Amino acid sequence: METAHANAARRNGVNMSTAPATDVLIVGAGIIGIACAARLAETGRRVTVIDRTGICEETSSGNAAALAFSDLLPLAHKGMLRNLPGWLMDPLGPLSIPPAYLPKLAPWLVRFLLAGNPRAFDHAVSAQAALMALSESQWMALMDRSGTSGFLREDGCLELYDSERSFAAARPTYDLGERYGIEFRHLSRAEMQDFQPGLSPDFAAGTFVPRWKTVAEPAEFGKAVWAHAERKGARFAAGEVKAVAGIDGGAEVTLADGRRYRAGHLVIAAGAWSHRLAGQLRDRIPLETERGYNTTLPPGAFDLRLQLFFADHGFVATPLSTGVRIGGAVELGGLKRRANYERARAMLKKAQRFLPGLKAEGGREWMGYRPSLPDSLPVIGRSSASPRILYAFGHGHLGLTQAAATGHLILELVGEQSPSIDLSPFDPRRF
Ligand SMILES: Cc1cc2nc3c(=O)[nH]c(=O)nc-3n(C[C@H](O)[C@H](O)[C@H](O)COP(=O)(O)OP(=O)(O)OC[C@H]3O[C@@H](n4cnc5c(N)ncnc54)[C@H](O)[C@@H]3O)c2cc1C
Repeated sequence: METAHANAARRNGVNMSTAPATDVLIVGAGIIGIACAARLAETGRRVTVIDRTGICEETSSGNAAALAFSDLLPLAHKGMLRNLPGWLMDPLGPLSIPPAYLPKLAPWLVRFLLAGNPRAFDHAVSAQAALMALSESQWMALMDRSGTSGFLREDGCLELYDSERSFAAARPTYDLGERYGIEFRHLSRAEMQDFQPGLSPDFAAGTFVPRWKTVAEPAEFGKAVWAHAERKGARFAAGEVKAVAGIDGGAEVTLADGRRYRAGHLVIAAGAWSHRLAGQLRDRIPLETERGYNTTLPPGAFDLRLQLFFADHGFVATPLSTGVRIGGAVELGGLKRRANYERARAMLKKAQRFLPGLKAEGGREWMGYRPSLPDSLPVIGRSSASPRILYAFGHGHLGLTQAAATGHLILELVGEQSPSIDLSPFDPRRF
């Protein structure tokens, strides 16, 4: 029977060396695909992950390393919207939109602005709070089982404000966080120096967020979680996925070189490129990319004790095992435009002001594509074309933070179990 099936598939060009041994195919080996693979493989599912680059080589490789479990606010919130006009005036500032991209971005931008209305905002915050609670418990458990807890840094984060005015404007967000049990400690100037010696004395206010965590190096961490998935039987296949489709009892994927793979389930976890595949499955998902930039300075560049968030400037400084990473910001510029590394340099220059003594030489510049939905919530759910094709993408600024929860929810969907949290806010058809 198996041989007849294999022969038929081979005649049809299906890669049977992989197909019969695969229960779940995953497109995308970023941190989301890796966490899905780990979770599925742990329960005995035979998993194949397909990626055109490698394991954790794209956006998940160079991010700011934060497990930002306390970050509940959608990007379109009052404080941010108030700053928007000023930020847009500065082409190298915290948020920029290349004018030529504006017509293409307009529909997403309208949805983004609407996401700031009070009802949508409250809905997004409570959905995010549920996902964050699951994210924290799932990451701690997965790190434990995968032997990757050594990457975890539990230093918290220091959020810094240039003026009493900007701090006062941010206060309602802390009050909101408190309603969800998130702890904060507002600091005196002297306390700020205790948390981070060498910090510029010019910051008017600072808040310590203890629940914030980081990993020592996101690319190495992703690869270590993948090694765990591989020990549990997950396999990798290199290739660019061109077509996805539902078939009887599962799904089929066709690669650019003509290879085809079949499995009982398919998970699309292709980051900022996922909407292209979802479009083939009758789902028009308004996925955009918020491009972000940073520079990783060599070890010894600064004795950074914890992650610092420069709130008025939209970027962070992160201590890593491989150095100090400075950057962030948002450029709504699509997937094709060339990177503008002047943005990374502008943040580095500011960081020299904020951290006098920072050695800014010898850095490596990077740009990554945050996969972002206008309401700042990911898409986790079933496709319109087939209940056996699942989506796990659009985590925006929080993909590293929410990967383990996403993997767990995908495991529940594959197993037809009721999900640990209400998935309606993450429904692919909510737009
Ligand atoms: C500057 C910056 C800082 C950030 N800081 C943080 C942070 O501190 N904490 C946090 O939680 N998040 C952070 N993020 C966001 C986080 O990095 C992303 O949300 C996350 O990496 C997305 O993971 P992913 O697996 O969905 O996508 P990716 O990592 O981009 O992976 C998608 C993969 O799919 C593959 N792929 C796509 N299309 C195809 C195809 N057709 N065929 C085959 N393969 C395909 C790609 O090659 C890629 O490997 C940051 C992002 C940026 C840019």
